[in-house]
Amino acid sequence: MRNHAPYLTLLLCAGCLSTACSGTPPDSVARALIRAGFPKNTAFTLLKELTEQAGHRLSGSAGSLKALDVTQQMMRQAGLTHVRVESVMVPHWERGTVEEAVLLDAGGRRISPLSVCALGGSVGTPIRGITADVVEVQSFDQLRALGKSAVGKIVFFNRPMDPTRLDPFNAYGGAVDQRGRGAVEAARAGGVAAIVRSVTTARDNVPHTGAMGYVDSVRRVPAVAIGIEDADRLSALITRGPTPRVRIRLDCRVLPDAPSGNALGELTGSEFPDQIIVVGGHIDAWDKGTGAHDDGAGCVQAIEALRLLREIGVRPRRTLRAVMFMNEENGLRGGRGYAASPNRDSETPIAALESDRGGFAPRGFSVQADSATFTRVRQWQSLLELLDAGKVETGHGGVDITPIVDKGTPGFGLLVDRQRYFDYHHSANDTLDKVHPRELEHGAIVMAFLLYLISEQGL
Ligand SMILES: [Zn+2]
Repeated sequence: MRNHAPYLTLLLCAGCLSTACSGTPPDSVARALIRAGFPKNTAFTLLKELTEQAGHRLSGSAGSLKALDVTQQMMRQAGLTHVRVESVMVPHWERGTVEEAVLLDAGGRRISPLSVCALGGSVGTPIRGITADVVEVQSFDQLRALGKSAVGKIVFFNRPMDPTRLDPFNAYGGAVDQRGRGAVEAARAGGVAAIVRSVTTARDNVPHTGAMGYVDSVRRVPAVAIGIEDADRLSALITRGPTPRVRIRLDCRVLPDAPSGNALGELTGSEFPDQIIVVGGHIDAWDKGTGAHDDGAGCVQAIEALRLLREIGVRPRRTLRAVMFMNEENGLRGGRGYAASPNRDSETPIAALESDRGGFAPRGFSVQADSATFTRVRQWQSLLELLDAGKVETGHGGVDITPIVDKGTPGFGLLVDRQRYFDYHHSANDTLDKVHPRELEHGAIVMAFLLYLISEQGL
């Protein structure tokens, strides 16, 4: 949008003849970003397009490849250059069409369905399903203590997220082991399948999927997530007795690895084009909803942040590169592939920023870097407060950028209002209508501003 430049000359930088330059006061840039971003909320328009055109985009799916096309087109329209895909191979798991669990009476007759979905990576069941009594536990220790009484049973892991933890991300971390390792631990105990209480803060009956794993030395048993209301109902039945019997049927399956990739686009640095500042999210998403918060939001915010900077006339000193990382949810092949690519050999990484905590109102940034870098970033706190996002704390940058950060590059994660993310995360409720256009845009504005500060001032 080169035709905006004359206007921006006045808007941003009275002393500069063309566009915003390193002499432009940062507070002017912050105000220009607000003026450019909020009237249009373009990030939401992009998210609508992504979720409508490539709603189901689990790695290896046709939708995931479509998402690469859609986001490349968005980057071109935003005026980014060097728009391309860097190839990676990804795991390919398909949910299939049969996905059910039913409560049975003692005679094997159907009492009622349970709200379940397969966990990502689960093996399927035989066509007739797996039918067994259910045993409930809150922990792996409790399961081991059951000894032989778990043999031949469906193991029901029912430890909830701890609601007394202020940060739901911490509560999630305290419960998600059941999803990740439940199938392995159930099989070790002699169980035939696993049912896992959905790892969510919602109070509804929608099941939440997510990655689970197997180990080669342990028999592979199927695993499902169950909605919270049915988890409580099942638990009440077990307490009351007699032991409920459940039949699970799944036709999900693992296919050979599939070709895929990360989509990239850039604003090339005017002074240091080989110095790279990455901004991204993950383009793959679980297949129950449309991945609006997780992580369509982060992807479109990365594109929108660069589009905003271009619109207000910023020509960054260092290269700003948007990356749509593939396969965060069940493999991290995109993040690893990006960092390991020979294309990185001629580049100097400066920083990597990820948005993957949902498209909620921004609060600031987590910083994953040495103390000197953290101190430097802390000095920008008062500037970030101009955008009502002045929180700067040490912490995890993001899963996709971890392979970059592990090589010594400072990592940044957008911090947001955390309370609702796990209501929607990995479920059929992660859809566009749960995203607030202004909050989403606010995040993109704050990201753009941090990118500007890093690009102009360095770290
Ligand atoms: Zn995510």
